[in-house]
Amino acid sequence: MAESAPRRLTVLGATGSIGQSTLDVVARHPDRFEVFALSAHRQHEKLLELCLQFSPQYAVMGEEAAADALARALQSAGSRTAVLCGEAALEDIAAAEPVDMVMAAIVGAAGLRPTLAAARAGKKVLLANKEALVLSGQLFMDAVKAGGATLLPIDSEHNAIFQALPANYARSPGAAGVRRVLLTASGGPFRTAALDSLAAVTPEQACAHPNWVMGRKISVDSATMMNKGLEVIEAHWLFGAPADIIEVVVHPQSVIHSMVDYADGSVIAQLGNPDMRTPIAHAMAWPERIDAGVRPLDLFEIARLDFERPDLERFPCLRLAFDALRAGGAGPAVLNAANEEAVAAFLDHRIGFLDIPAVIAACLERSGTQTVDSLDAVFAADACAREWARAEITQRTAYR
Ligand code: NAD
Ligand code: MG
Repeated sequence: MAESAPRRLTVLGATGSIGQSTLDVVARHPDRFEVFALSAHRQHEKLLELCLQFSPQYAVMGEEAAADALARALQSAGSRTAVLCGEAALEDIAAAEPVDMVMAAIVGAAGLRPTLAAARAGKKVLLANKEALVLSGQLFMDAVKAGGATLLPIDSEHNAIFQALPANYARSPGAAGVRRVLLTASGGPFRTAALDSLAAVTPEQACAHPNWVMGRKISVDSATMMNKGLEVIEAHWLFGAPADIIEVVVHPQSVIHSMVDYADGSVIAQLGNPDMRTPIAHAMAWPERIDAGVRPLDLFEIARLDFERPDLERFPCLRLAFDALRAGGAGPAVLNAANEEAVAAFLDHRIGFLDIPAVIAACLERSGTQTVDSLDAVFAADACAREWARAEITQRTAYR
């Protein structure tokens, strides 16, 4: 067979940490991948650079002023990339006919609509945007099925689990002899910090992750371990795993990216240096394997691997996430929305670090057990939880 044509890719959230790592892999394999479209929210200068490097057909900005600035700059550079703006345009570049795969790397609930559009259009969906799945769970998985899409996890833990599961795995742990899904967690920057120091930690300290360089929101989520909580819910939907068989294992070196424990006693793990280009390249080339530019793992340099049980006193967000998953209904959507609002307020120095779990807990207490069986219901739960969270944040700000 002749060499196949390059796969056409849309990168949603191209200027972010995952977006940049994705484009790094693309640049290493110009024969395999071609960029169809790129998106960014506000950073038009950064997107300009990427457009000049990758010559996509379309670039989408979140804001008019930024879109205008990008269009002018591209025009004067003689580029043919067309600039679009807004949410509908994001859905268009995700679902456009020529597109083979979509990297869903927008942070937060804002990524849900375009990611769903890619799923409905039957694309190969590379899912980094875990919040989208947490928010819409069953609806998202239904859209993947109805659209005939291929869903590949980019989150390093879920990518590891995907690699450790049988190739024909059909979202039924029992049928595949899976006893437990072991989700590893680094424990973040505050794993061993004195408990009484946590109230005063700054956003800069929270964003200084020991092993990974990531966007600011997910870095704070790692510090509270809400990131692991969201990942528990993500694993539930991706792998059809009930909460009771998902176990979180703190593993400070971040070398084992997760494991699957089978009925016969076998535990299969995926290891590697903590570099997101590994799961990204894995998913982009799947089922083939390509160079990701990642340093080979040196086990002698690592020398030892440690494991600890998560401390739920220190990390109440992890317990809240399990509670929300078990509660079902609007629980996960409320958890996610309250967390997004609380983390934004913390990054903005409006509330303290320990206010984050307090705000989320207060919102979960107010949420009912109504089912969310439509996108409208999902967004209604999201909007309602954001209102509760903002009120809670305002009260806490008043006492600071
Ligand atoms: P980031 O903050 O570095 O980048 C976010 C991207 O989304 C940017 O391109 C930004 O322009 C865009 N964006 C932000 N708000 C938007 C909005 N309202 N509308 C449209 N676009 C918007 O984030 P990141 O670290 O790259 O993370 C992206 C996603 O991947 C998150 O869901 C995160 O949980 C997930 N993820 C990240 C990592 C990592 O190592 N960074 C690992 C696993 C999962
Ligand atoms: Mg992860």
